[in-house]
Amino acid sequence: MSKLICLDPGHAKNTPGKRAGSNPVFYEYASNRRVARLLAAKLKSAGFRTIYSCNLDSAVDLSLSQRGQNAVNANADLFVSIHTNAHADPNVRGTETFIHTNSQASLSVAQAVQTAMIAEFKQQNRGVKRANFGVLRATYQNMLSILTEADFFTNPQARAWMLTPGFDEAYSNALLRGICAHYGVSVPPTGGSAPAPSKPTEPKSDDIGSELLRVKAEKLWVYNKPDWNARTFQVSKGEAFTVKRVLIVNGSKMYELKSGLYITANTQFVEFDGVIASTPTKKTDQQLANEVRAGLHGNGEARKVSLGNRYEAVQAIINSKAENSIDVMAREVRAGIHGDGHENRRKSLGISQAQYEKVRARVNQLSKSK
Ligand SMILES: [Zn+2]
Repeated sequence: MSKLICLDPGHAKNTPGKRAGSNPVFYEYASNRRVARLLAAKLKSAGFRTIYSCNLDSAVDLSLSQRGQNAVNANADLFVSIHTNAHADPNVRGTETFIHTNSQASLSVAQAVQTAMIAEFKQQNRGVKRANFGVLRATYQNMLSILTEADFFTNPQARAWMLTPGFDEAYSNALLRGICAHYGVSVPPTGGSAPAPSKPTEPKSDDIGSELLRVKAEKLWVYNKPDWNARTFQVSKGEAFTVKRVLIVNGSKMYELKSGLYITANTQFVEFDGVIASTPTKKTDQQLANEVRAGLHGNGEARKVSLGNRYEAVQAIINSKAENSIDVMAREVRAGIHGDGHENRRKSLGISQAQYEKVRARVNQLSKSK
């Protein structure tokens, strides 16, 4: 029979503490339950059987020993206690997985899950740890038993992320992948955010590569939904993000980020990485123009000195609105946010065939220059 996984989303509405922030308040129990529900569906599609340790609709926090006893009574093979972490220092972030102090058997599944979470979240690896936690104590002698802490909700940036659906997806996907890896089960398509295999019909010269979107402004708001009023927290100059898709919100362009957050697409504030490390004489005018936009050559006289005899040509690009937008569109294509295939990309960009040919030429030029 397939393995039975008992999911244990920590806490409940009546648990003291285990919440932070305001407008909205982050409740750990609610986050844990969202992740547990998503994970249960994903595990089922991977062929596992699942139960919960407690009633997910109850406001009452079932005791730790009773949660464990429910898993023992059901004869579960694996107990997964789902949590996010707290720390007195709001700067602390990172991911950790616990097994019981005396458990040996649970070490390998804990390592598989911790590895999957680190790959998914890319936060500090705080490792697999041992503790005499109640739910682990109540289960470790009867089944494999782990407790996961994705990140710290006491950190404002982590907390804003945890309030987005992107976090629930990421956490449930990471747990799914770790559990599948431990049992040697292949991950179902619903649990994969891995890129689809590239289509063989796509010409090699149109490889879109990858581009990160970088913040140019000193401080810039990100949003937890596609709504200019949904300001969540500020990011700083130089921070970089992976863009998922482009949206028009109240007539202005917004990017949805892979993290589930949203950011302006206004090129005054953000730009795709176009700065290429090479000797100055080998840089194209376009590369220098990108550097100018990234603020590397200053303004006015300083820019003239920095660019020397390239100033006129580079400034012409900077001053050309049309060239700007072709370059931005090309970088969006390279970032993958306009999909695959020329016709799809052209429609997604909403431009004429003639304009698309310019974008395509720019994409190829960028691919060759890297
Ligand atoms: Zn907790």
